[in-house]
Amino acid sequence: MSGVLERTVTVIGGGVAGMSAACALAEAGLRVQLVERRGYLGGRASSYLHPGVNEVIDNCQHVLFGCCTNLAGFYRRIGVADQIHWTSDMTMIEPGGRRSVLGPSAFGPFGLPAPLHSLPRLLASHAFTFADKLALGRAFGALMRPVPSSSTENLGAWLRRNGQTEGAVNRFWKLVIASALNADIDSISLIYAAKVIRELFMNSAFAGSMGMSSVPLSQLYGGALEFLETRGSSVLLNTNVEAPAWDEETSQWTLPTRNGHLMSDFLVLALPYEATAKLLPNMPPDEGTEALAAQLERHEHWPICSVHLWFDREITDLDHAVLLDREIHWMYNKGRLQPWRKGNGSYLELVVSASKSFAALTREQAIEQAVKELAEFFPAVTTAKLEKAALIKEMRATFGVPPGIDASRPTSVSPWPNCFLAGDWTATGWPSTMESAARSGHLAAEAVCLSIGEPRKILDADLKPRGLMRWIG
Ligand SMILES: Cc1cc2nc3c(=O)[nH]c(=O)nc-3n(C[C@H](O)[C@H](O)[C@H](O)COP(=O)(O)OP(=O)(O)OC[C@H]3O[C@@H](n4cnc5c(N)ncnc54)[C@H](O)[C@@H]3O)c2cc1C
Repeated sequence: MSGVLERTVTVIGGGVAGMSAACALAEAGLRVQLVERRGYLGGRASSYLHPGVNEVIDNCQHVLFGCCTNLAGFYRRIGVADQIHWTSDMTMIEPGGRRSVLGPSAFGPFGLPAPLHSLPRLLASHAFTFADKLALGRAFGALMRPVPSSSTENLGAWLRRNGQTEGAVNRFWKLVIASALNADIDSISLIYAAKVIRELFMNSAFAGSMGMSSVPLSQLYGGALEFLETRGSSVLLNTNVEAPAWDEETSQWTLPTRNGHLMSDFLVLALPYEATAKLLPNMPPDEGTEALAAQLERHEHWPICSVHLWFDREITDLDHAVLLDREIHWMYNKGRLQPWRKGNGSYLELVVSASKSFAALTREQAIEQAVKELAEFFPAVTTAKLEKAALIKEMRATFGVPPGIDASRPTSVSPWPNCFLAGDWTATGWPSTMESAARSGHLAAEAVCLSIGEPRKILDADLKPRGLMRWIG
């Protein structure tokens, strides 16, 4: 058998899944070609120079959490982990401006043990009535243990069955949990909702802390390009792959591209589900293809919109906030999170998750509504001058996680020889996130190493639950 160093792998798709697979395989000693259709890496988590505002902006603010161990592992591998700004506070603001801060009451050894670490601030918050707090406490208690994998219940039905108040539903379940999973509560599997609750609010204070990049996303992921090139691997941008061909005799994949034919021993398809589906008719015939096509058909997209606003002055001293009872959900103060951005004014990004109605608005309507709502939380908006604005609608932002979706999430094993699947939608147990993408990339890289006969542990371990959570579940 030839050694690892002589083996070549082509990874198709330069999103987080493809980059994390490619970098792990290059580190394992394989020669990797990472092929990306667009002119930059990052996929659905990327930034570019927006011609309308002449600024480099992210396609949308992307946040990660302490529990995202594979994404963190990927950042460490490519040397960009120190570009992430971490915080443990989540400020909720009511229209009118009243603030409540959720999060652990103390970081470190002197706080309450998990899962009680967030309780003091929840009890003190103005955002919830006493009845809301009781309802949330009951729900958290019930979700402390993992939901059985056989559950077919959706989150909305479970909330109704478990006596959640209107305030708890609107201000917590819909705003925090449904927007993290980017779907309506009736379209979210209880299994996934419970996972988010446990990971973000129960397992440990660090697991729920939030990370945001201090540089634009494509700059962050530029670290992957450098990592690969310094290890003798290559990145081909602006290269679309349409019809990979397998040669049984030479055991090689050939990919016709506009840059000529690419050859390799292994293939990793790290594409979104709809791009994988588009490739299927051109893949070598195999009886497993039909089953995969049926799985792909069950997936559904959900949109995310972001409104980017530049004002001539400071609007708020907060880095970020959750905005209650309105269409806009999250405010990110990009000027503060990315202080290298020049200017005396401020740059805010507002994010609207899972709203098909907001996504249907025109640019003018969406910006007008966002500014109007923002003024209800930050009065400085009413006297500030809006200097420029951009709206980004991502209609295919994430895939939904309705009950039963796991049956349609394949593992990294594909129907074709020497070919493996990755992408946030594959079987990682995580919802549509960068962590799911990084996990899928690491799992696909493990599968490649295994098939060469050089098994290797690449998947980063989950964080261990702390405090009382060590004995629960
Ligand atoms: C607006 C928005 C907000 C989000 N917010 C968050 C967040 O806050 N936190 C979080 O964790 N996640 C968030 N996500 C989800 C996250 O971005 C995705 O889950 C993750 O980036 C998916 O990575 P991926 O590599 O699986 O797929 P992708 O990022 O889609 O990468 C696939 C790549 O394949 C390329 N490609 C497609 N077809 C071909 C072809 N034929 N040949 C060559 N290349 C091809 C594409 O151009 C793309 O670069 C958000 C997504 C969006 C859109």
